[in-house]
Amino acid sequence: SSSTTPIKATLFPGDGIGPEIAESVKQVFTAADVAIEWDEHYVSTEVDPRTNSFLTWESLQSVLDNKVGLKGPMATPIGKGHRSLNLTLRKELNLYANVRPCYSLPGYKTRYDDVDLVTIRENTEGEYSGLEHQVVKGVVESIKIITRKASMRVAEYAFLYAKTHGRKKVSAIHKANIMQKTDGLFLKCCDEVAEKYPEIEYEKVVIDNCCMMLVKNPALFDVLVMPNLYGDIISDLCAGLVGGLGLTPSCNIGEDGIALAEAVHGSAPDIAGKNLANPTALLLSGVMMLRHLKLNNQAEQIHSAIINTIAEGKYRTADLGGNSTTTEFTKAIIDHL
Ligand code: NAD
Repeated sequence: SSSTTPIKATLFPGDGIGPEIAESVKQVFTAADVAIEWDEHYVSTEVDPRTNSFLTWESLQSVLDNKVGLKGPMATPIGKGHRSLNLTLRKELNLYANVRPCYSLPGYKTRYDDVDLVTIRENTEGEYSGLEHQVVKGVVESIKIITRKASMRVAEYAFLYAKTHGRKKVSAIHKANIMQKTDGLFLKCCDEVAEKYPEIEYEKVVIDNCCMMLVKNPALFDVLVMPNLYGDIISDLCAGLVGGLGLTPSCNIGEDGIALAEAVHGSAPDIAGKNLANPTALLLSGVMMLRHLKLNNQAEQIHSAIINTIAEGKYRTADLGGNSTTTEFTKAIIDHL
């Protein structure tokens, strides 16, 4: 309630539709009387030499201090000599795992109505280590790094997540039949952690087979944990199973218990500033943030209001086939609280 001391959380409204959907989150949270005090930070218009990026040192420090935040989409300005915004956040905050729940929204019909899974993606290494070069003309090389440290860290997180969220099974996704050393090490780490969780069912699934099973029967899966590149691809596949970018939240987990929630989609420059954006993905990311803070009642209350608004079908944004504006849809959610 409003009488408790508010928890400080960093808010990056971001670019494009970011400020419009962040406004929606602020209004819904205020209406639900959530005890959060937003510490707002915008992407700078110039490079901060201390971060070598358009993110200021103060904004990174804010997340490090608050340990929790919500991030709108960010569009990295084109040009040389600076780091991408998302890469800067990932590196500076050690965001080692990306957690993306994918579940069918009641009332919004897609090909499946029984999807309820969570992908957990290793976020720091694999093919994303940036080690690519030309060996000789016509021959290039890319180095995939897998370490025991990062694999153990993400495997530990996946099993802990499964246990604390009442999940029954963890599937480790791999291609260890071909990538014997790298994916082999990743699997070995998952095996080791699995032994400590006898109550959680554990399986290993080759990525190509995993894709086929996901498309045929996504209800076969519960929690999926995987190296970076596979996670990038599989998590988008899963978003597609439940209705696409406007609906899917995520949360990045960093060292020292940092949690930075974010919508999966980008800044949508084609509809920015037109009051057309669907705030659902950022709102559901905000709900993930509340659950991380153990503010479960308010998380549930806001979650239900979103689901009920979409299910009722009277107010929907254009991406879901409706003709409501961002503000009309937001107001409808507030009325459902
Ligand atoms: P995008 O996700 O911004 O847009 C893809 C399509 O989906 C567009 O037609 C857009 O209108 C629509 N869309 C996305 N979110 C929506 C929403 N909430 N409601 C309604 N429609 C929505 O992808 P893009 O066009 O490839 O990228 C645009 C910019 O965003 C780029 O600069 C890119 O680098 C950046 N980006 C940032 C992030 C991030 O910050 N995590 C992620 C992806 C892309």
